[in-house]
Amino acid sequence: MKKLEKHKPPEGIWVFGDYRNYFQNRVTLQLIAKGKELAEKLATDLTVLVLGHQIHQYAMEYVAHGADVIVAVDHPVLKTYQVETYTRVVAELVENWKPNVFLAGATAFGREFFPRLAKRLMTGLSADCVSLDVDAQRGWLIQTTPSFGGELLADVITPRSRPQMATVHPGLFQERVHDKGAVGRIIYPDVKVEADERVQLVRSEAVPGHRGEVQEAAVVVVGGRGIGSRENFQKLFELARCLGGEVGATRPVVMEGWVEEDRLLGQTGKSVKPRLLITVGTSGALQYTAGIQGAETIVAVNRDPNAPIFKMADLGLIGEGRSILTLLLETLRKRT
Ligand SMILES: Cc1cc2nc3c(=O)[nH]c(=O)nc-3n(C[C@H](O)[C@H](O)[C@H](O)COP(=O)(O)OP(=O)(O)OC[C@H]3O[C@@H](n4cnc5c(N)ncnc54)[C@H](O)[C@@H]3O)c2cc1C
Repeated sequence: MKKLEKHKPPEGIWVFGDYRNYFQNRVTLQLIAKGKELAEKLATDLTVLVLGHQIHQYAMEYVAHGADVIVAVDHPVLKTYQVETYTRVVAELVENWKPNVFLAGATAFGREFFPRLAKRLMTGLSADCVSLDVDAQRGWLIQTTPSFGGELLADVITPRSRPQMATVHPGLFQERVHDKGAVGRIIYPDVKVEADERVQLVRSEAVPGHRGEVQEAAVVVVGGRGIGSRENFQKLFELARCLGGEVGATRPVVMEGWVEEDRLLGQTGKSVKPRLLITVGTSGALQYTAGIQGAETIVAVNRDPNAPIFKMADLGLIGEGRSILTLLLETLRKRT
């Protein structure tokens, strides 16, 4: 690792650059925006670490989105993600450059890669954070994460070990405006990259019929357990079609098999930021609301006037979900 020492070490806040499905997967860009804000509070740099092959274009994109420094490890072996190889390479860089904070998206990738990396580095990791801040005096990262089954939001700190690591839920932070004129430093470190002999990637293909549009939709209609049945749930698809939107679901609905898992919203699902979100028959559990707090306007339908969902709703309708859905659909059908 001699060559690494020639560079001025980027030691402040690091974000792992997950550029797979770049145009859909915006979590790295969201973390760059948040990381930059935190780096400014700590008077340090925001560095993005990118691994892969022929990745210069992504390095440039991350600079345009606000990164001060890019550490790019470009090697044919890194073209496809292999958890062992990636962990070895990243652990070596972190041990040499000692960043204070290291963040990744709480995607399937981040959820597999970061715990392994944290163990290798013998440091802590807060999973699925919903908010981040810093204590500028102490240099601490305040990692807010749902705990006790989502009943509480806990602020976690890592006072001794470094880096302070966290995975963060997608969709929580606003990405910065793309600035073509932005200037950043790109470092190509000379780090040893070796393939993991034990694992070979045979094939990689996209899931057929995978949509992922719920995160892009301007209107999202969500159904919870209170919808009552798979048949009733179909009404939500009709409502979403009338409004030009998409359908989301809470966990019990997915567990019942009324809808596919890729529509799950919340702590273990997707986060959405639509202009309008209509949520029917959902109680408003924290693990669910973690995924909808970015919505501009929330309309909640529930028969229980004390349902916690009403605390965050802009408009609340107390009544039978099915009847209100039927009325809404009738009104909308007359208009179209
Ligand atoms: C670690 C962990 C992670 C989790 N992650 C997630 C997650 O990502 N996403 C998620 O959604 N959940 C998650 N959960 C589960 C979460 O805690 C809640 O159990 C879940 O969100 C509740 O879903 P719900 O609101 O549909 O159902 P319920 O809590 O059962 O609420 C149903 C609501 O419908 C109302 N209702 C009933 N009948 C009618 C009717 N006819 N008309 C109108 N209203 C009616 C009721 O008053 C009630 O408020 C997680 C839990 C844990 C422990």
